[in-house]
Amino acid sequence: MAHAQSSRIQEYIGDPVSDSPEIGRDTMEEIFQDIQSDIRFDHELNGCLNCGICTATCPAAHYYDFSPREIVQLLWTENLEGIYDAMQEKIWACAQCYTCAARCPFQNSPGGLIMLMREAAIKHGMESAKNVLRPFSRVMLKLISTGNQLSPDMINADGFPDWGPNISKVDAPLEILRKAIPMPTLNTTATAWEVNLTTSVELYTIWEESGVLDQLETIDENLYDVILDIMDEKREDLEDWEDEQDDD
Ligand code: SF4
Ligand code: SF4
Repeated sequence: MAHAQSSRIQEYIGDPVSDSPEIGRDTMEEIFQDIQSDIRFDHELNGCLNCGICTATCPAAHYYDFSPREIVQLLWTENLEGIYDAMQEKIWACAQCYTCAARCPFQNSPGGLIMLMREAAIKHGMESAKNVLRPFSRVMLKLISTGNQLSPDMINADGFPDWGPNISKVDAPLEILRKAIPMPTLNTTATAWEVNLTTSVELYTIWEESGVLDQLETIDENLYDVILDIMDEKREDLEDWEDEQDDD
């Protein structure tokens, strides 16, 4: 009697209690190809002894259900299902401290590999990437539109409700204090420091050419639209300023 054909390779992967569509093997292969074809991949992964030194020294592994050894093994053995599964949650536990890279006897960089997996998660618009990045939309808006990250006026009770009463420790008359700083570029509370118009527009070109904005569009279309409007406005401002200089 012939035995039924069986295979350990999963054709689809999905959460049996979730409404999310099952993921086909083609998609998992495509995601892995994106990770593996990155120029950094061969530099970050040279083999793996499965020794666990990376996990033993990883701060995130002490607090979360997360192991850099496990992630490296998934990539080293090209376990597509496991890689896809780890990208749903585990890769976002890494603190990107690179202690693992300093300790690995194979000179692997588990943290660097996780960075590649995160980039692939963003590129493929995974829900895990959207969920993780959503609370940072205000910071991303500030960073991309002004070239600065946290500005003094963001450090207040509204901006950091999770700080609770501790926020009062940094509450201060910022307008006055910032004016007292000798460098004029720091006499502002709306940005960490003032970035001049030409530099801002140059930064926009970098965000565009390096694909940062394309990635942003994948994970947060509304934020992308807002940033595009700001960029158009600043580019027009720069053109007007340049015209004025020509007229003088
Ligand atoms: S990545 Fe390096 S430290 Fe971690 S298990 Fe593999 S060989 Fe060991
Ligand atoms: S870079 Fe990530 S995986 Fe490596 S030690 Fe730090 S938290 Fe752990």
